[in-house]
Amino acid sequence: MRAFSNTLFTFLDCMQELQLLLKRFFGYTSFRPLQAEIIQRTLQKKDSLVLMPTGGGKSICFQLPAIYMQGTAIVVSPLIALMKDQVENLIANGIPATTLNSAMPEEERHQVRQLCIQGKIKLLYISPEGIMSELHWLLPRIDISLIAIDEAHCISQWGHDFRPEYTQLSVLKEYFPKVPIIALTATADKITRTDIVNQLRLQDPQIFISSFDRPNLSLTIRRGLNKKDKIGAIVHFINKHRHQSGIIYCISRNITETLAEELSEYSIRAVPYHAGLSPAQRAKSQDDFINDRIRVVCATVAFGMGIDKSNVRWVIHYNMPGSIENYYQEIGRAGRDGMKSDTLLFYSLSDLLLHRRFAEESGQKDVNLQKLNRMRRYCEADICRRRILLSYFGEETDQDCGNCDVCKNPPQRFDGSILVQKALSGIFRTEQQANMRMLINILRGSEQSELLEKGYDKLKTYGVGKDLSYKEWKEYLYQMIQLGYIEIDYASSGYLKVTPLGRKVLFGEQQAQLAVYQKSNDFALPTKKGGYKYRPIRPIQSNSIDETLLDSLQQLRKQLAEREQTPAYIIFSDAALADMVDKKPITLDEFSEIRGVGQLKLDKYGKVFVSLIRFVLRLPKKEL
Ligand code: ADP
Ligand code: ZN
Repeated sequence: MRAFSNTLFTFLDCMQELQLLLKRFFGYTSFRPLQAEIIQRTLQKKDSLVLMPTGGGKSICFQLPAIYMQGTAIVVSPLIALMKDQVENLIANGIPATTLNSAMPEEERHQVRQLCIQGKIKLLYISPEGIMSELHWLLPRIDISLIAIDEAHCISQWGHDFRPEYTQLSVLKEYFPKVPIIALTATADKITRTDIVNQLRLQDPQIFISSFDRPNLSLTIRRGLNKKDKIGAIVHFINKHRHQSGIIYCISRNITETLAEELSEYSIRAVPYHAGLSPAQRAKSQDDFINDRIRVVCATVAFGMGIDKSNVRWVIHYNMPGSIENYYQEIGRAGRDGMKSDTLLFYSLSDLLLHRRFAEESGQKDVNLQKLNRMRRYCEADICRRRILLSYFGEETDQDCGNCDVCKNPPQRFDGSILVQKALSGIFRTEQQANMRMLINILRGSEQSELLEKGYDKLKTYGVGKDLSYKEWKEYLYQMIQLGYIEIDYASSGYLKVTPLGRKVLFGEQQAQLAVYQKSNDFALPTKKGGYKYRPIRPIQSNSIDETLLDSLQQLRKQLAEREQTPAYIIFSDAALADMVDKKPITLDEFSEIRGVGQLKLDKYGKVFVSLIRFVLRLPKKEL
């Protein structure tokens, strides 16, 4: 670890060294989008706010500069479980890191403090309460390289994870004005963003927003299934994902328990998880899940924030979530290692009604109802689901994803450019002062009194959309919103605004494909194939060498994990194993090229893994 020195600093040298450190400590050969820029910014001792989806690779953004810079990085994190996971990962890669938390005996805390003061720790993970209690004695005695605030949205009352302790973090800038702060979150909305910047008093921060796209997650929605069919579909789904970990999110504690019980009737071992269980029970379920002793958890939203498990392969929503933010965060727990993962959501009217009631009883009725409505439209849409999600998070894209149920079973489409042009020019002619109802009335040439009072019957677009019914227009306008041509301005009574992408269609630079309006919007249910009985697990006997190799590698990883009492994904991620199957390294040199193999893991595991690969490939034994 080399001290950061301004005089020696040249951009290229620095980038080269960072790349070397990335490989040496994390086993990765290239940065993901934005990571390098964010790291450079911190090295220049400037503040940043980083918005990246779950699994986007936020940790490297502060862990790598922490390794590169002199001193100790302070990482603020809301949950002990989260800290523990990251610290285990760092130590497994040979990086001196530790936590300081109230669950540790005082003697151990004393030791940690001493190590930090001696400069022997590169990353210190600490809770916001911990920061406050160490503010006067410990922190001034440490050479602090940077301060990272993880899950920074917890500072905002607007969000769903508000933690009052986070608001005290504003003192950090005051006490350590020269130390760069990097705030990180997966929550993207503008209010939360502004709250973070203001409350942490970030100085002239650069805001990095990475794409929220998670192309490795497949998106599927099933509408209107009754309970029996839902169970059938779930059992079917899980049997297709045997030996893989997954979470089923349920709307109530009760459902988590009955569902886990019902699944057991099909020989699927599942545990319930909700806030009503004892802390010990919850800790055990979580631990069993992380260590692959149990594959299926039926959980309320209480489950997940402390879970950094990178190989969750699927997420099912037994009930519809109340907002797209919640939904996206929950499905985001699958596939953090970037590998293909599946998500399935069941949508029913009764869930919708239940959520409406929650929203109406909440302190923020209007906002929550709007959020619910967007969630509902997402479930009902028949256009690429990923495009809807991305547009919701403010990203425009003009391509379908090919990995959602709509893309896989496409509805009939037509060139809707003229319809879009009619609607958008209608919006412009009202100077973007019309809500959806008014716009439809204008397009359909209604004689409604408010419309006449405003003189909208004189507009050129008045009556140009008479041929379509009110419902049809509504459906098409929703599609236009979902495709990112129109935005709803909730702040100004829901007026419609034309987006830059919309202008392209309006001015004929781009075509707009709409989905034909269908009166009955029910999906045909998948036919239930008789008997979803679970088959007992047998060791794989495959003709495919890749399958046999993967299975053997998984077994080795599991044994190592048991021996080291650590989760299997800390040894190697699923992505690393997949890369081994792909590249079949038969020397240590080749093994060092595998994704996720840094120096320490090469030394520690290289020989056993290479020997196993040689064995499976029936190559002669070799001294390694
Ligand atoms: P987040 O905190 O944003 O949810 P993580 O930092 O946990 O995400 O990263 C998610 C996964 O991506 C981890 O398995 C991590 O090791 C991996 N990852 C991060 N950066 C890279 C990179 N540059 N190349 C390959 N994998 C990466
Ligand atoms: Zn799609």
